[in-house]
Amino acid sequence: MSENQENNIHDDHDKDTHKDVGEKVCFMCHRPESETGPMLTLPQGLNICNECMQGSFDMINSEMDNISPDDIKNIFENSNIKFITPGQLVNPSTPKLKPKKQEKKAEEEIEPVLDINNILPPHKIKEKLDDYVVGQEHAKKSISVAVYNHYKRIIKNEKNDIDDIDIEKSNMLMIGPTGCGKTYLVKTLARMLNVPLAICDATSLTEAGYIGDDIESVVSKLLANAGNDVEKAERGIIYIDEIDKLAKKSNPNFRDVSGEAVQQGMLKLLEGTDLEVPVGASSKSAMVRMTTVSTKNILFICGGAFPRLEEIIKERLNKSSAIGFSSDLKDKYDKDPNILSHTTIEDLRKFGMIPEFIGRLPVIFSLEALDKDMLVQILTKPKNAIIKQYQKLLDMDEVKLEFSDDALEEIANKAIKKEIGARALRSIIEEFMLDIMYEIPKDDNIGEVTITKDYILGKSSPIIKMRG
Ligand code: ADP
Repeated sequence: MSENQENNIHDDHDKDTHKDVGEKVCFMCHRPESETGPMLTLPQGLNICNECMQGSFDMINSEMDNISPDDIKNIFENSNIKFITPGQLVNPSTPKLKPKKQEKKAEEEIEPVLDINNILPPHKIKEKLDDYVVGQEHAKKSISVAVYNHYKRIIKNEKNDIDDIDIEKSNMLMIGPTGCGKTYLVKTLARMLNVPLAICDATSLTEAGYIGDDIESVVSKLLANAGNDVEKAERGIIYIDEIDKLAKKSNPNFRDVSGEAVQQGMLKLLEGTDLEVPVGASSKSAMVRMTTVSTKNILFICGGAFPRLEEIIKERLNKSSAIGFSSDLKDKYDKDPNILSHTTIEDLRKFGMIPEFIGRLPVIFSLEALDKDMLVQILTKPKNAIIKQYQKLLDMDEVKLEFSDDALEEIANKAIKKEIGARALRSIIEEFMLDIMYEIPKDDNIGEVTITKDYILGKSSPIIKMRG
């Protein structure tokens, strides 16, 4: 391979990994996953589509026909070519297997199976989440442990390891204000684990009479995202957002059917059931092929803002802290910004979630509301931070883009006022970056642009430095 070709591959690899949380791009044909269908992720983080993978195998096979068995042995012994197990393909960051076992496994493991050695331990999962998700330490820790246990449970069941101990499913409930990173956390996790993900909104499941269909449509969406591979889908993740909207209404005069009925309807799904779902279409019809998908090993994560929950928790805590020897200030909890971290099952029940439903989501944790510092970090720190994206865009015009610290804080202040968490950041930045992105490429002499607080406040222009 020429040096030039090699450089191209490195460049392409960089490009592909920059899209870590975006869409995968095939390392060979550069087509996105939406076009090629699901891709394999190799241990180095390279993505490759099925077509290119097959093409490579075909080419190797035809070349192999012309080489003697001794030559083949020499090639493998004297090169860096290593066998990788399908398990390693499932988890790209798996540490390399010890050489001795490796040869044996390469022969034995033909079907992709999740191997216990190939699941990242919780601290590694969290470490990887840290690259993208700012703050939310407790949530990242909880989700890492739950995911680790979830896949261990699958392995135990797959090995038919029958004993008295039945490991419970680690379905989760995430509680946190809007825009604090619930969906983002799940998306990042699914990407990292290389498992299919389907996201749905609980409000779309509310129409009475259509419950069954809707629930199945979530599973068939997961199946589609798994490239219609049933086995892969059965190890995927389903995220149900706005789960708090399914709460029973507190007004006893109003007979609420939808929310409670949907909670009831979801019990079997969360626990594990076999569903007949259409393949390659979102609805059943006479023409569509149906297949059975078991939800037994699908990890369900529910999320919601639970707006009235804070009051319920405060009331309970203030009541108990005002009684007894350890009586506290009556309003001690009124000012606690992380009141949601004190959530109990009883609080959720009072909120309107039925006990059977909460019982099927054994891992419950909360996410914090994002403060100014966290918002500034979200702007700058994650691997694909918004500011880094703009810097990259201008860098392609050989222009350096800088933000002063107080400019970043001002953007965070503006976002806080909008009360939609980090979601506000992009729209705020896009608003004032429009002029910059339009004007800068007009003048080739511009070498550096610094965004200041005054520019964000509309009081002055950004600081421009010319080249040379
Ligand atoms: P919600 O909690 O309402 O599901 P999202 O996860 O959709 O919020 O967050 C919206 C966007 O804000 C995400 O796509 C992500 O870019 C950004 N974001 C939110 N929280 C974080 C965080 N803790 N770290 C990094 N980015 C975040």
